[in-house]
Amino acid sequence: MPLVPMRQVLDEAAKGGYGVGAFNVNNLEQIQAIMDAARATKSPVIIQASRGARKYANDIFLYHLMVAAAEIYPEIPVVLHLDHGNSPETCKSAIDMGFTSVMMDGSLMPDGKTPSTFEYNVKTTREVVEMAHAKGVTVEGEIGCLGGIEDGHGAGLDGLSHLTDPAQAEEFVKLTGVDALAIAIGTSHGAYKFTSKPTGETLKMDRLIEIHKRLPKTHLVMHGSSSVPKELQDIINQYGGKLKPTWGVPLEEIQKGIRNGVRKINVDTDSRLAITGAIRKVFMEKPEEFDPRSYLKPARDAMQQVVTARMTAFGQAGHASEYAALSLAEMTKRYASAKN
Ligand SMILES: [Zn+2]
Repeated sequence: MPLVPMRQVLDEAAKGGYGVGAFNVNNLEQIQAIMDAARATKSPVIIQASRGARKYANDIFLYHLMVAAAEIYPEIPVVLHLDHGNSPETCKSAIDMGFTSVMMDGSLMPDGKTPSTFEYNVKTTREVVEMAHAKGVTVEGEIGCLGGIEDGHGAGLDGLSHLTDPAQAEEFVKLTGVDALAIAIGTSHGAYKFTSKPTGETLKMDRLIEIHKRLPKTHLVMHGSSSVPKELQDIINQYGGKLKPTWGVPLEEIQKGIRNGVRKINVDTDSRLAITGAIRKVFMEKPEEFDPRSYLKPARDAMQQVVTARMTAFGQAGHASEYAALSLAEMTKRYASAKN
């Protein structure tokens, strides 16, 4: 199956009432871990690369690894998505490369740090929607600012300082025509999301529910939604790591989100924790090893395990064979006819 437009995967998820994990990648092993998990659970999946990942791996490597994934796992609908594009130029370079979906994060200025104005956000996002939809490519926007910093991107604020205003979210979707909307409800990027198990005071699920009521047809996206399980933190610390105690987004809160319009759930930290724990374990237990495969294989297996668990919890498992991929050309026609 060729790489699939994200809009199709999210529309199908909305029909089926489930969520789809969007897992970040930087290299071969992470792509293999996700695709093996998708095959084992028969899941459609979104694979995303940040600007940092594109710089680390080189776009051409990343894109061809994804084409290889589509060839090796033909039964799995897989999306290649740009995470947190900081400008229309960055989004354009991803579209030109063959990404089937882009995020234009106009909630921040192009420096990826300074919160922008509503007008700037609407203008840049609208520009990307026009450019992307003309090529059948999906667009995710963001309104409100997420907490924390990921790959150098983020205002570095706590998750509660720029929450999404539901009325503004409604206006934003009307003015831009985005397919999917990332909202700020108290979550943060990175491992240190909450200093204790989140409550209604720190994770604003009520706000998400209100946004969904106003925008029942818009696919909502939860960023910073790793669960940061204690077991994975413990493995790292048991084998010489020094993580401070931290809490992520509990799976039951994500499932509540999925019942209320969340269709895309971004997960990066959990994969990083799984990989690092597995590598630390080999280094500590077998200091005589020096073949990278001796630690990269357990790392890949550990990531596959956590991704499999997420796919099952989000409900995407079992849905891979329900639809044939739409081409970008077909999506272009759909966008054009929806406009007229
Ligand atoms: Zn994000």
